[in-house]
Amino acid sequence: MDYTTKDLADLIFPDLPYTIEDLNRMFPPRNLKEGAMVTRFAPSPTGFLHTGSLFTALVAQKAAKQSGGVFYVRLEDTDSKREVAGSSKELLEQLKEFDVVPDEGYLGDGEKGQYGPYQQSKRADIYKAVIKELIIKGRAYPCFCSVDDLNRLRETQERNKQIPGYYGRYASCRSLTLEQQITRIKNGEPYVIRFRSLGNHNHKIEVTDLVRGRLFLAQNDQDIVILKSDGLPTYHFAHLVDDHFMHTTVVSRGEEWLSSLPLHLELFETMGWEPPHYAHLPVIMKLDNGNKRKLSKRKDDEAAISFFLKDGYPKEAIIEYLFTIANSNYEEWHAKNPSLTFEDFHFTFEKMSLDGALFDLSKLQFLAKETMVKFSPKEMKDKALAYAKQYNPELERVILSNPDYFEQIMAIEKDKENPRKDYMKYSELLDKNRFFYNEFFEEMAKEATPFNSTFPKEVIVSVLQDFADTLNFEVPEQEWFEGLKKLANKHNFADNNKIYKANKETYIGHVGDVAEMIRIALTTSKQSPNLYYILKILGKEEVKRRIKLAIEKL
Ligand code: GLU
Repeated sequence: MDYTTKDLADLIFPDLPYTIEDLNRMFPPRNLKEGAMVTRFAPSPTGFLHTGSLFTALVAQKAAKQSGGVFYVRLEDTDSKREVAGSSKELLEQLKEFDVVPDEGYLGDGEKGQYGPYQQSKRADIYKAVIKELIIKGRAYPCFCSVDDLNRLRETQERNKQIPGYYGRYASCRSLTLEQQITRIKNGEPYVIRFRSLGNHNHKIEVTDLVRGRLFLAQNDQDIVILKSDGLPTYHFAHLVDDHFMHTTVVSRGEEWLSSLPLHLELFETMGWEPPHYAHLPVIMKLDNGNKRKLSKRKDDEAAISFFLKDGYPKEAIIEYLFTIANSNYEEWHAKNPSLTFEDFHFTFEKMSLDGALFDLSKLQFLAKETMVKFSPKEMKDKALAYAKQYNPELERVILSNPDYFEQIMAIEKDKENPRKDYMKYSELLDKNRFFYNEFFEEMAKEATPFNSTFPKEVIVSVLQDFADTLNFEVPEQEWFEGLKKLANKHNFADNNKIYKANKETYIGHVGDVAEMIRIALTTSKQSPNLYYILKILGKEEVKRRIKLAIEKL
């Protein structure tokens, strides 16, 4: 009997709810202005939000937003073996923490938009409609090879030093007749569906990548699996169908997909569909013993973005940091426009670094300090509290015990034009400020105090006593400091280190040493935020009490 490809297609997919024409009607082109980009973030629910994935998502959102387009999220959950339960919802929650909120698509608990479903496992019938069309066109076929057959094929290819894969003369099911295919299916043999490639690996095709420009890549010749035996498509095929019917204009994804680009372009061409633009983003690397390597899920804590959040880095700094990777001109722009944020920056794919971007913790830390110093005291309190609620119950209790007091501590130097950059993470806030709280201070004061042993105890005692007796900080900082200098002079300490060094026979030290004595008495440490502000926050009575305590201990 003479079979047609239509007979084969009808046998495999006897009653599908849609045809390609239906799909075209269901998903009409988007009505957007010229130049508006439709981008997407397409995570697989295989675990936590990877630092590299956040980078990809931020870039996709930015490109859509600044062009007046649409940014959507699509859940690529066709590989049930790799799926980690609950991770897709968590992914969306983590993205939200970084203000990555899709305009449409999968939302973690449901979805919104006209182009759904946005979860690949719910789109089986859509994929099948397209595969049916490919079978009718003669560009897809059933493959009955078993895992053993494929293993044997790989071994033969390795032995003969051939490119591995299912292609050309190695693609044994490619040449089965329609009759053989139909008979074997009717006999109940298990099969997958493969794409029939017409490419030649020895030919190069010219492609354009938005990040990398013009490239020449070998044509695809692999007859890849497009539909697995579980009835779901592989990534390659699913992305073709989804990015077409969701009208994506720019596919931005990790550079590990660049080598599949010829295959993807062949799929688009076969369907007669216009392909989207592609942007292959650099993978984030780290230096390991002098060698660059990809951040690894297993080996590197910093591969999970949650690591930075738990550690207390402000999310604003993480975003800024990822933008310095995204565009090489970002840092310079930001230095010139310190009051603006990445939201105001004009991003371009062309200015993205080509090589794997190196993860640079010290740069993140620098940006974190810059970010935190710009927060108002109230913002600091609110953000620290949000952090503490999630990760640090002790800090939460301390803030809530007296929110105004905490805000005063966060206000130190904030009235200055260039305040000191005291913090880079919320997790430091408690340790650097414990002394402000008597519940901790009493214990801290029991420990040995780090007074400079080059000064006799009597000198320290008389300096501290005099300071407590003449205490006056109800004046501007400069005036207060002048007063401190006078007190220093009275006890034979010079106005500054330079004068002391030049006149060692006249002085026993300088005003910095005096300030250190007071600092130690009030905070138990040689380092602290600005002393003048500490005095004001603690107040006269408490300052006197602490000085008395220090003198008693000496
Ligand atoms: N699910 C793919 C991944 O997680 C998405 C790649 C793409 O964006 O097309 O790598």
